[in-house]
Amino acid sequence: MKILVIGGGMAGLTYAIVACKNGYDVTVAERNSRVGKKISMTGNGKCNIGNARINADCFNRSGIADRVLNAVSVDEYVKFLNSCGIYVYTDSEGRMYPLSDSAANVVDCLRHQLSKYGGKLLVNSPISSVSKTGNKFEAIIGGNKSVFDKVVLACGSRSQAAPTGAESLLPEGVLTPTVPSLVPVKIRDMDAALNGLRARAEITLYDGKELLDSRQGELLFKDYGLSGICILDLSATIARREVERKGGDYIFVADVVPRMSQEVLEKIIGKRLDCGERDKLFYGILHNKLAEHIVRRAGASADASRIAHTAKNLSFKFDRLLDWSMSQVTAGGIAERYLDADALTLPNGVVALGEVLDVDGICGGNNLYFAAASALYVFDSAERDVAYTIS
Ligand SMILES: Cc1cc2nc3c(=O)[nH]c(=O)nc-3n(C[C@H](O)[C@H](O)[C@H](O)COP(=O)(O)OP(=O)(O)OC[C@H]3O[C@@H](n4cnc5c(N)ncnc54)[C@H](O)[C@@H]3O)c2cc1C
Repeated sequence: MKILVIGGGMAGLTYAIVACKNGYDVTVAERNSRVGKKISMTGNGKCNIGNARINADCFNRSGIADRVLNAVSVDEYVKFLNSCGIYVYTDSEGRMYPLSDSAANVVDCLRHQLSKYGGKLLVNSPISSVSKTGNKFEAIIGGNKSVFDKVVLACGSRSQAAPTGAESLLPEGVLTPTVPSLVPVKIRDMDAALNGLRARAEITLYDGKELLDSRQGELLFKDYGLSGICILDLSATIARREVERKGGDYIFVADVVPRMSQEVLEKIIGKRLDCGERDKLFYGILHNKLAEHIVRRAGASADASRIAHTAKNLSFKFDRLLDWSMSQVTAGGIAERYLDADALTLPNGVVALGEVLDVDGICGGNNLYFAAASALYVFDSAERDVAYTIS
């Protein structure tokens, strides 16, 4: 069987390697001059390749994710990685990294497996249309028409990449609107003096008075707004609502002294106020610039209670999500209702994998895992077992 895989990312390469090991005739068409460009960018170059605690709650649109994760366990994913020569370790929060700590090295391993098992790789080969005649698919590659028995669409998303052209490769209407996700947020009237500061915080996202979600972690202040893993994760909640065309009056409320109760903080501040130390209220507790910001926001005549309350409830009014060039994943994509859930196949027979699907995970290795696991999922267990052999 001749198979065309469109896209040489985590999903496409995983599919191609498993198919080659099972004796299929596989061609990967990648529009870039090399495969795995996005893999190379992950985990700050270290490649957070998976998460040992992954579950469907880590994903928006958990229907497909749930099926895929139930079928492809963490152990199985690790077996696949090992079969490609990628050995991993897990940190205290379940995040998995390659022993090499090198995303580029992960790409090398995957590319090597593909060529070792006879996969054909065509780089600089964007695919802009695929047509079906009878049971066969025709695609124009490098100006020539080629015929395949099967087409696998693994073209990813627009996040930190050019538009994929997926619209022209898919039947009309199967793509939902798409929105940048896992992305920093622009805040209205942001205090640019905070730019570059980092603070441990507990952050809650509200729509007006309705609590939507909350996260703990490092908050990163930027001149335009907020970033950091907890903000990226909360951005996914907003992005999902934007895909569903739900508006919102979003506010982030940060407790920037999460390790101290408001009562204790108020007592400390009260004593310092009594001693006339208004410019030293947060010494030993917060960065001076953040302290100045809080005291200013509390107001010139604020008492200890008000200042402590401000530090525990620092609010930031959401303006907008930053754009594709800053986003790690895309919310939206091929809607679940158009897919045969067992084979991730569209009505025209095209198999769709990875981020092109309307599935997006929060930070922590979930997205690479899903991309690879969705590819493993579409093979039967005997074919997967063949793929996990190390030779
Ligand atoms: C900066 C950054 C950091 C990230 N960090 C992490 C992390 O640490 N852990 C994690 O799990 N996830 C991370 N992600 C998300 C993760 O990289 C993606 O979810 C995952 O790579 C998606 O895999 P994919 O194979 O579905 O798509 P992609 O990796 O995007 O691969 C799709 C491929 O298809 C090619 N292509 C597109 N259109 C065409 C076409 N028409 N013809 C031919 N080829 C085409 C593209 O060039 C690309 O190579 C990060 C993303 C970014 C941008």
